[in-house]
Amino acid sequence: MKNIKNSEDDVVQILIAEDSSTQAEQLKYLLEKYNYKVIVAKDGKEALNLLNEFKPAIIITDIVMPEMNGYELCKEIKSNESTIDIPVILLTSLSRSEDILEGISCGADNFITKPYHDDYLISHIEQIIANRKFNKSERVRVGVEIIFGGKRRFISATQQQMLTLLISTYEAAVQRNNELIQAQEELKAINENLEELVLERTNELLAEIDIRKNAEKRIIKLNRIYAVLSNINKAIVRVRDIDQLFQDTCNIAIDEGKFQSAWIGIVNNETNKIETFAAAGLANELIEVSPYQNPVTGVISSGKHFISNSINTDKSIPEIWKRNSLSLGFRSFAAFPLIVFGKVTGGFCIYSNEVDFFDEIEISLLDEMATDVSFALEYIQNEIERKKADLLIQENTEQLKVQNIELHELIKELSQTNTELVIAKEKAEESDRLKTAFLHNISHEIRTPMNAIIGFSEFLNDLEFLPEKRKHFTDIIVQNCYQLLSIISDIISIATIEAGQAKITENEVDLNSTLRLLHEQFLLKDQKKNVILILKNTLLNGEVNITSDETKLVQILTNLIGNALKFTQQGYVNFGYKLKSNELEFFVEDTGIGIPPEMHQVIFNRFRQVDDTAQQFGGSGLGLSISKAYVELMGGKMWLKSELGKGSTFYFTIPYKKVQRTTLLGKQSINAIKFENKTTITLLIAEDEESNFMLLEEFLTGLNIEIVWAKNGLEAIEICKTQGIDLILMDLKMPVMDGYEATMRIKNFKPNMPVIAQTAYTTDLDRNKALACGCSDFITKPLKRELLISKIKKHLK
Ligand code: ADP
Repeated sequence: MKNIKNSEDDVVQILIAEDSSTQAEQLKYLLEKYNYKVIVAKDGKEALNLLNEFKPAIIITDIVMPEMNGYELCKEIKSNESTIDIPVILLTSLSRSEDILEGISCGADNFITKPYHDDYLISHIEQIIANRKFNKSERVRVGVEIIFGGKRRFISATQQQMLTLLISTYEAAVQRNNELIQAQEELKAINENLEELVLERTNELLAEIDIRKNAEKRIIKLNRIYAVLSNINKAIVRVRDIDQLFQDTCNIAIDEGKFQSAWIGIVNNETNKIETFAAAGLANELIEVSPYQNPVTGVISSGKHFISNSINTDKSIPEIWKRNSLSLGFRSFAAFPLIVFGKVTGGFCIYSNEVDFFDEIEISLLDEMATDVSFALEYIQNEIERKKADLLIQENTEQLKVQNIELHELIKELSQTNTELVIAKEKAEESDRLKTAFLHNISHEIRTPMNAIIGFSEFLNDLEFLPEKRKHFTDIIVQNCYQLLSIISDIISIATIEAGQAKITENEVDLNSTLRLLHEQFLLKDQKKNVILILKNTLLNGEVNITSDETKLVQILTNLIGNALKFTQQGYVNFGYKLKSNELEFFVEDTGIGIPPEMHQVIFNRFRQVDDTAQQFGGSGLGLSISKAYVELMGGKMWLKSELGKGSTFYFTIPYKKVQRTTLLGKQSINAIKFENKTTITLLIAEDEESNFMLLEEFLTGLNIEIVWAKNGLEAIEICKTQGIDLILMDLKMPVMDGYEATMRIKNFKPNMPVIAQTAYTTDLDRNKALACGCSDFITKPLKRELLISKIKKHLK
């Protein structure tokens, strides 16, 4: 390109029609560099308007524009006489043949293809300006009809225009061709360069692949170590037993770490030797072969790891150990100390069949692993200690619990004892209170008959009284004596009950006979004119043999019948019993004064009487409480039904213990047996007190009984040996030898001898003792004639 600028004087004006302000500016900038004066219109219309004002040397127009495109603008210019000469250059991409035909049709003078080279554009412009003069003259337009793209088309243009356009098209093609060739050359150069680059890059890549392969190998190796570390850590969390942890650690080293052998040795504190605790992989004979010449000893003594990456060439390894290691295929070796609570207790060793296996990173990871195992050992040891402590605490707690229980028991016992003591105290207080009340009551009770006895006894000394009067006094005295006696026996009974000494002494009882005897005794003693005493019993016809405490049963009935007779002035007193399933229900019914309802319970308490009873009828108020206590002792209960003014019925039950055999002799009524014809009966009375003997002799007078008197037990034995004695009345308390001893001895040589004990001792204990010594029966002093005779008769049968 001729790089010649237009001179200042000869200014060439160029009109540019371009809607893209950037492209317009770019073109303007280029043209102005060559001193062209450039006016820019943003579309075809504006360009046409500008042409009214001035006439440029060249018009360069874009084709695609708003309002009016390049072809239309060109057509307008070429159809106007005043502007027809102005060369119009179309800026086109020339991508389509229609563009050329369109360009020709609209009368365009030249094409400049986009993208254009600056030089090419400028040279074209210069060329157009130069050719401007020649163009002016030619106005003849040639019309050509062509078929293009299946369409018939008529194109008209001047020859010059066609030629210019053809040339410019050709130039554009050449220009493009040149560009292509240049591009091809450039491409070729680039291609050549590329091959070099590829070679270079391939070499680089090969080197990179090598690095990668090494890195991969390394990663695989490191992964093994990480796997070992991770699995050992899992084992540490899972395992709570040292042996198991060690074994798992070795197994993991073999399975995950792919080592050839793994071994853990612990120093035996007593022998100071390293003992194998766990091993895995190839048999680790190394330690056994050279127990002291192996690097583990060094690890244990130094507390630091030992690494040999080439066992073969390592001079620090003892020869024997080296030989053995190599024979097993080991090429590198690492040993790590196990440190527990700051003390090296053992070592962990691993062997690889690769030389240079252990590098810095692996060593540091394995160091970490050994630290983890050490930590686990500390933890497990701590756990063991803690468990021991827990066990100790548990044992202590158990002991404490036991002690606590014992303490509780003790407290319970103490509180029980305390309660018992309180009860005992209350009892003592109550008994104290009762004692006072008792003494008060009893003194009155005793004084009353005593008063009569003393008073009338004094009268007896007075000879002025007539015999009949004296007889009356004697009767009063005897009656009061019985009253006194009854009080004393009640007192003894109550005392025995209260002392808890009242016992049941069971024997075989012919119930009907006993009741009949009782009936007879009362008839003899307490016969009242207006009161009938009736023994009523549905079962009286047969024999009812039971096991019971006859004495107590008689005492209860005596109390109830005595009370009934005492409190009945008119009517009757019935007594008897009924069989009710497994119980015998006794009743004593009277038509007496009756008992008010509020007293039905209370009268069973000691010393309790219905108001005013004491004044009217006397009595101690003990009978019912004794009777009730005896009934309960025998396993029964006592109650009453009563209506004031109409009478009372007392009931009590005892268990019905039937005796199957009928060995009991039926008791006979006193009147049923007579002694008159039996002159052969000899009775021995053993009695140290003469008055008592005389009384007995008196009682038995007129019954045809021969009486022999022994003053003590020894004499009684002698008499029994020498004389034909039928029955003995044995006093129990005698000098030289008492009645118990004498009875026992007599029974030794005369086992069938009937012995009736007669004593002032009235307790159950006395009675039982006498029976145990062999006495057949028991009669208490003061003796009652009827009872004495009936007992003698009973035992002589
Ligand atoms: P005592 O008869 O010696 O006073 P008890 O304990 O036998 O003592 O009787 C207590 C009280 O019960 C009697 O004092 C009397 O008031 C009343 N009592 C007992 N039996 C009868 C009865 N059959 N009829 C009326 N009252 C009776």
